[in-house]
Amino acid sequence: MTNLDNLSRQYAVELDQEDELARYKTEFYQAEGTIYLDGNSLGLMSKRAEQTLLDVMADWRQFGIDGWMKGKRPWYEMAETLGAKVAPLIGALPDEVIVTGSTTINIHQLVATFYRPEGKRTKILADTLTFPSDIYALQSQLRIHGFDPDEHLLQVLSRDGKMIEEEDIIEMMTDEVALILLPTVLYRSGQLLDIQRLTSEAKKNGIVIGFDACHSIGAIPHAFNGWDVDFAVWCHYKYVNSGPGGVAGLYVHEKHLGATPALAGWFSSDKEKQFDMKHQLEPAQTAGAFQIGTPHVLSMAPLYGSLEIFEEAGIEQIREKSLHMTRYMMDLIQAEMGNTGFSFMNPTEDHRRGGHIALVHEEAIRICKALKEEGIIPDYREPNIIRLAPIALYTSYLEVWQTVQVLKRIMVEKRYEKYEKKREVVA
Ligand SMILES: *Cc1c(COP(=O)(O)O)cnc(C)c1O
Repeated sequence: MTNLDNLSRQYAVELDQEDELARYKTEFYQAEGTIYLDGNSLGLMSKRAEQTLLDVMADWRQFGIDGWMKGKRPWYEMAETLGAKVAPLIGALPDEVIVTGSTTINIHQLVATFYRPEGKRTKILADTLTFPSDIYALQSQLRIHGFDPDEHLLQVLSRDGKMIEEEDIIEMMTDEVALILLPTVLYRSGQLLDIQRLTSEAKKNGIVIGFDACHSIGAIPHAFNGWDVDFAVWCHYKYVNSGPGGVAGLYVHEKHLGATPALAGWFSSDKEKQFDMKHQLEPAQTAGAFQIGTPHVLSMAPLYGSLEIFEEAGIEQIREKSLHMTRYMMDLIQAEMGNTGFSFMNPTEDHRRGGHIALVHEEAIRICKALKEEGIIPDYREPNIIRLAPIALYTSYLEVWQTVQVLKRIMVEKRYEKYEKKREVVA
């Protein structure tokens, strides 16, 4: 089945030599002797991200309160400035994006704002494979409106437990649905949904549609504005490498700008008027209106340095390399260990695959422990999934090759058998 006829180490080395993004590898801190394949959960620290955080610390040290307006990167405009820099990654206009909150908070903000049940159009549509936090947020938004989530939250079923078929989603876009929230890429299988098609179908049916782009931002190009997506949310600590708990982002289509945020605070204000301190909010006419309180400056600062790398490298190039690497990894696994009980949970077609591959094996927990002991950092997901993410900016083809060699040894020698079959608290 494989279309890879060169399984040699030398071939991996050659791929690295031809790779134009290879030069970014040294910009990232990677512990000696490790191969990091968990950048889809927490991206590695780059030297530039570290520096822009240190710059903010220096401004605080030097300017105290005046850091809000002075210094290298004034804090008062930081969320807006960073929003404009993130915009190209999701295909939005600068004013449509703001860096704020966390993914879950931003879901609350935007669903609270754009979910407007009316008549029999009261339902929210999501899917059964999405991240739990998204579902908890939708359930609580329904409860706030006095609706029973069991009745008003519709979740599209998966036919195989791995993917969600676009047709099945479209079929549920009835005139009872007021709002749709879907992931761009499913966090377990890595399936990339057809965002453009789903959006256009939602529009035809008069439904507001938003996406959670946590698993696609920084890995895949988007055209949210062009596709007419109403709103979106995402975090920056996965593929965008902004650090643990790094401030998230949101997008609101320009046609909705000027809407009053459902969850308002003084940072929702028009920035010129904020310090008038009136009790009548005049919201910003940009996505900035969806901020609530004081920006978490220290948790935003690394994003500056990180985004510089994306600007230089280009998201199209990143996507191209990422697809090629995941393809290479799948081909190697298939060729080297076709009979060791693994199956792919991720889509194998390029246009449906996100940034990681997902291997299913009944011994997944113990295999992950064995990989870690060999210095390879995978990502385990219940109940039997090993996610491996070769990251275009800092994983080499040689590391992909080495990973498959180690995995093969673990399987052939059954090295996983010496570990306990028990998951860590943080997986
Ligand atoms: C990572 C992730 C989250 C995490 O949300 P936080 O508010 O940052 O904790 C939520 N949803 C999806 C789909 C994710 O991938």
